[in-house]
Amino acid sequence: MDDVIGEALDRLICVEMRYASGVPRGIIHRLYDAARAEAGRPLTTLATELLVKAVKPGDRVLIVTGAGAPPFLPYGETDGPLGAVAIAHALDLALGAKPIFLSEERNLAPIAATAEAAGLSVLAEDMFAARAASAMCVPLLMAPEDWEGQAAALVEQHRPAAVIFVEKGGPNDKGRFHTITGNGRDRTVMASADALADAAGRAGIPTIGIGDGGNEIGFGRVTEAVAEIQEFGRKCRCGCGGGIGTIVRTDVLMVAAISNWAGYALAAGIALATDRPDALHDLGIESDMLAACARAGAVDGLNGRQMRGVDGTTAETQIAVMTMIHNIVSNARRPLRREF
Ligand SMILES: [Zn+2]
Repeated sequence: MDDVIGEALDRLICVEMRYASGVPRGIIHRLYDAARAEAGRPLTTLATELLVKAVKPGDRVLIVTGAGAPPFLPYGETDGPLGAVAIAHALDLALGAKPIFLSEERNLAPIAATAEAAGLSVLAEDMFAARAASAMCVPLLMAPEDWEGQAAALVEQHRPAAVIFVEKGGPNDKGRFHTITGNGRDRTVMASADALADAAGRAGIPTIGIGDGGNEIGFGRVTEAVAEIQEFGRKCRCGCGGGIGTIVRTDVLMVAAISNWAGYALAAGIALATDRPDALHDLGIESDMLAACARAGAVDGLNGRQMRGVDGTTAETQIAVMTMIHNIVSNARRPLRREF
């Protein structure tokens, strides 16, 4: 996929449409610009190239997602699972890979429901290993259990070709996790997915981080920009003495207004790079995924309602964004010979 297409996808997924709600606005293009300047090329292109190079048929890929915590987000939110599943769907169809979803136990039911809506059966390991169009769900431990040991064991057990973090919170330099509005949480509330990033890094396994705020794993590539741009970037409200930005880096960082959309852009990139347009899920699957995710307990992360919405945007908007991504893909594959 060339940089022209990556640029178009990057720009489409960075259209911010948050409503005034106390959640910081007018920041996505600034976070994107920082990440883009650091990376030097379109972020969708870089993430696509990483996966197409690293992932071979039969390879396992770990996909970590799941934002929020009880009581307001008891089973997570709708931003994250759909993007994670879009990537898994593309990896399965176009690259013959084996996607494994990881999250706090409380978030796994909506993730599994979303995967099943995309045609990926969620199975136990023996069947998962034997059959295509399947996925596996693994709960991530939280403190005080041995979450660091688990991370190392997961890398050892699955030998993943890549590890991808979608809307997955990472700790700041004080070891605390934060919401975008500056509230802090410790490792008994949020899974330490950063341990998985560290374990992958030690094993030389490539990583991708996707986020829309600066507190998600991957943004460690642009910590100073997050500190500068975000309202609580230098000083949170939990008193830990740090800001909301994470220090956890990945090899590639993708920034989007809504993290799911970066997953869709990456699926589009995979579809183009492999000449498998069906690797980008269709509009029917998009609609079914959102309904299934919400039905299984996920809520809109902005208004907290268990409904077909994502970060304050409607189901129709998800379809509209997907429609445009499909158009970018189809036009990229069908150059037109103009007669005039
Ligand atoms: Zn704090």
